[in-house]
Amino acid sequence: MNEPIKKIAVLTSGGDAPGMNAAIRAVVRACTYYRIECIGVYRGYQGLIEGDFESLSARHVSNIINKGGTILKTARSLEFKTKEGREKAYKNLKKAGVGAIVVIGGDGTFTGGLKFIKEFNFPLVGIPCTIDNDIYGTDNTIGYDTALNTVVEVIDKIRDTASSHNRLFFIEVMGRDAGFIALNTGIGAGAEEILIPEKNLGLDRLVESLNKSRERGKTSSIVVVSEGDKIGKNVFELADYINENFPDYDIRVSVLGHMQRGGSPSCFDRVLASRLGVAAVEELLDKSTGIMVGFTNKKISKVHLDKAIKMNNDINKELLKVAEIISV
Ligand code: ATP
Repeated sequence: MNEPIKKIAVLTSGGDAPGMNAAIRAVVRACTYYRIECIGVYRGYQGLIEGDFESLSARHVSNIINKGGTILKTARSLEFKTKEGREKAYKNLKKAGVGAIVVIGGDGTFTGGLKFIKEFNFPLVGIPCTIDNDIYGTDNTIGYDTALNTVVEVIDKIRDTASSHNRLFFIEVMGRDAGFIALNTGIGAGAEEILIPEKNLGLDRLVESLNKSRERGKTSSIVVVSEGDKIGKNVFELADYINENFPDYDIRVSVLGHMQRGGSPSCFDRVLASRLGVAAVEELLDKSTGIMVGFTNKKISKVHLDKAIKMNNDINKELLKVAEIISV
């Protein structure tokens, strides 16, 4: 670990998110700047196990800053969850002369990375990249801002049809454990109700709220539902239940699904990815390991991977209040 690092590997892992390419580009170019070889690993931890490596120069990452997805591909590797799998990965890195690694992904990626460090004392730094924004130690994860903009744009379109036909739309957005996408897009797109895992509104309250909307003269409504909402029903069951209580409403369901992961990253995500890519390489050159680089209070920050995984970002109570006030 005390030898100077000559090669840094980079991989993308878990669910893809807009801005992964911008982060890869920044890591590769920071390596070039500091005269270190950069090794791209294909298909996340699975590529590490299979030795699916390619040396990347600054020119390999030209014209990718604006592209969604990841040129290195991503994968969910079950084999990396086994000791044998991680041992193969370690041997491949050693064989290739790699001295440190940057992993770009979400909390699963960091959990695997942390195990790898503990077992092999291999220098590793994480970059938070997931549309869910569910990682502690950074105000924003890469991809979140783009996903918000994508969702708001779609809800705006759905609103056009909702108001033309006096329809009640239930729109499901991503977020199994965290309601950040639902809360922010619900406010941004002017939803009447926002259902998130962190706050159990309850069916009766939802019915009451929709009744009130009707009384106030609303003829169409948008309800944004987070995937992981704990109201106890999936979005279709929810729509059926409301249908029984509002026979005169024309109810429709729209599940936005994977479109939320795609598309060209926003300027915010491109800049964030560029800053975090450079910071990750600089941290490794400064002999840091076991940390995630993030962006907190308008500054680059770092947090131990353990904390990033185990701690939760609280839902912003002020945003909840704003949502309630402006939906009257
Ligand atoms: P997203 O938040 O977008 O889903 P993620 O990084 O959380 O991204 P996961 O599929 O949970 O995505 O994790 C990515 C990969 O990390 C897994 O496919 C696996 O290879 C590795 N990983 C996850 N959990 C562990 C674990 N407990 N031990 C070892 N490796 C793990």
